[in-house]
Amino acid sequence: MTAGTPKAQVDTSKPHPARVYDWLLGGKDNYEVDRQVGERLPAESRDGARQNRAFMHRAAAWLAGNGVHQFLDIGTGIPTEPNLHQIVQRSLPTARVVYADNDPIVLRHAEALLVSTPEGSTAYIEADVRKPQDILRYARATLDFDRPIALSLIALMHFVPDDQGPYDIVSSLVDVLPSGSYLVLSHAASDLVPELSDKVVAEYAKGGIRLGFRTHSGVGRFFHGLDMVEPGLVTAPAWFKDTDAPTDEMSGIYAGVARIP
Ligand code: SAH
Repeated sequence: MTAGTPKAQVDTSKPHPARVYDWLLGGKDNYEVDRQVGERLPAESRDGARQNRAFMHRAAAWLAGNGVHQFLDIGTGIPTEPNLHQIVQRSLPTARVVYADNDPIVLRHAEALLVSTPEGSTAYIEADVRKPQDILRYARATLDFDRPIALSLIALMHFVPDDQGPYDIVSSLVDVLPSGSYLVLSHAASDLVPELSDKVVAEYAKGGIRLGFRTHSGVGRFFHGLDMVEPGLVTAPAWFKDTDAPTDEMSGIYAGVARIP
């Protein structure tokens, strides 16, 4: 799908997750309704967004460093440099990346996601993770499902509450990936700093956005049956720093990477 098609109808009367996240990261692609939500959130939410994005950078570089050439990134967000394909194509120019998001504002900015290296390729699809088969059908045009693929669901699944079948959705995506593929996932925690996460959930709800923040074991369930990469499911700043020093940075975000056996 191309950027800027008439389908990219952006509703500025209601806050949208991609635009609130953009505001939290200090971006400019947001509207008054999004800023109102952002401003009512605890100040720590901005740290969470930054820690989450930094985890994406480290995980993408780690995967490319381990020779993963193909990526399916769902819940991509508004492009913010460096984007995932820029990180992985730095070391693997032939890498292929399929991006998907359900927010029309991301489609409007998708051109930035489509500037690939000549040897590699990127694609963008407007799609909802709750319809995984649609995403897989499109992704097959760009990705070879006989070779390892990293599925990245970064700060996405907490937008899918339990009554919408989040675990079945992730399993149906993971189940079609060949051995040697990876699941990369980060997720807002309900049990790390509960008083803050309760406030975040309440503020998003006022804006009509339902969230399903989860405990460590609730997030761990997404990785069921997979081989966790060290250091396991930890807070975003603690995931795979190239230093042995333990991080004491407070965080409300869990992050992990697992290999599909
Ligand atoms: N992965 C990026 C952006 C996270 S913000 C990063 O970590 O930096 C969460 C993104 O998920 C938003 O862009 C939002 O539009 C998208 N999203 C929320 N619910 C979704 C759904 N049901 N299907 C697809 N994308 C969704």
